[in-house]
Amino acid sequence: MQDTGDTFDYGPYLRRHIRTVPDWPAPGIQFRDITPLLQDPKVFRVLIDAFVHRYMDRRPDVVAGLDARGFILGSVVAYELNVGFVPIRKKGKLPFTTVEETYELEYGSATVELHTDAVKSGDRVLLMDDLIATGGTMMAGKKLLEKLGATVMEGAAIVDLPELEGSARLRAAGLPLYTLVDFAGH
Ligand code: AMP
Repeated sequence: MQDTGDTFDYGPYLRRHIRTVPDWPAPGIQFRDITPLLQDPKVFRVLIDAFVHRYMDRRPDVVAGLDARGFILGSVVAYELNVGFVPIRKKGKLPFTTVEETYELEYGSATVELHTDAVKSGDRVLLMDDLIATGGTMMAGKKLLEKLGATVMEGAAIVDLPELEGSARLRAAGLPLYTLVDFAGH
């Protein structure tokens, strides 16, 4: 992204604070660890500002965060935008009535849930996670929010792994995306 006056490229600064852990949690996976971004208070501030800057003058009605690193980002961004936060959780964690969505993983499947009163019909939602790989997690979150009649105005994440084509699939499904750092390789 170029600095065109109303946008700013946070990527090069943030990239330096993402740790790559090879062969974790399985051989061949390059794990992009975002915890160093959170650990340094000056970097954490820039990270949150990157999202606040984008959404402060077209604020969502609510921010939804994907389990679990999407909670860390999404709740702070929601607080800064002065809107509410709702968690999309792995199955079996939410106590009230829920809607659920199951999606395929490389091996097996996963199910995520959302409280039925988390959003209202017509709400414009910002959906957040730390990273987009195959896009399956974010797609499941989008479907859950749409089941309740909400619209996802944009999906946002720190990292995109474009070679896995998840971000392309999400965009093709009609979801605009905002990501800060691209990494090649998985
Ligand atoms: P996906 O559903 O394939 O887009 O995977 C995205 C989710 O899995 C996010 O919640 C990430 O935290 C996690 N994830 C997948 N691949 C990686 C990776 N290489 N490094 C760090 N997290 C990952």
